[in-house]
Amino acid sequence: MLNVVRHALVRLVDFFNRINLIYGTISDYCTEQTCPTMSGGPRFEYLWADGDKYKKPTPLPAKEYISHLMDWIEMQINNQALFPCTSDLPFPKNFDRHCSKILARLHRVFVHVYIHHFQNVVTIAAEAHVNTCYKHFYYFVTEFDLVSQKELEPLAVMASKICKD
Ligand SMILES: [Zn+2]
Repeated sequence: MLNVVRHALVRLVDFFNRINLIYGTISDYCTEQTCPTMSGGPRFEYLWADGDKYKKPTPLPAKEYISHLMDWIEMQINNQALFPCTSDLPFPKNFDRHCSKILARLHRVFVHVYIHHFQNVVTIAAEAHVNTCYKHFYYFVTEFDLVSQKELEPLAVMASKICKD
């Protein structure tokens, strides 16, 4: 069991780095003007809350939301109480809940990139790279049931096309 957990942690950090890079490549196209909210099309809008500075769910421009999101994840990953980095410290009981929350939030960056910036991704010829990264992410979270269908829904049609081979 512990090995599964460690494996999950390594994968999570890897996805965090990859998604950070992917968003970085298109972030110049994501401004307060182009994306005044953190959305995935007209049906999905995400509000930011971190229980600290933003106690209530707050609408933010996508760029700001993603910046908070990435900072928040980095803080989680570096939090020894949540993610002990040596094997003699126990993993907390709610480790999988933390992982699920982090992965669900990371998925929202994919949602925003795919729905609002896919043309930008194509322009820089990165679509194969982004699709591969999404596939790996999708297989991982669905294999271990880490992200709910509700969170995956905005990209469900796309996933059914690229992830079912
Ligand atoms: Zn945007």
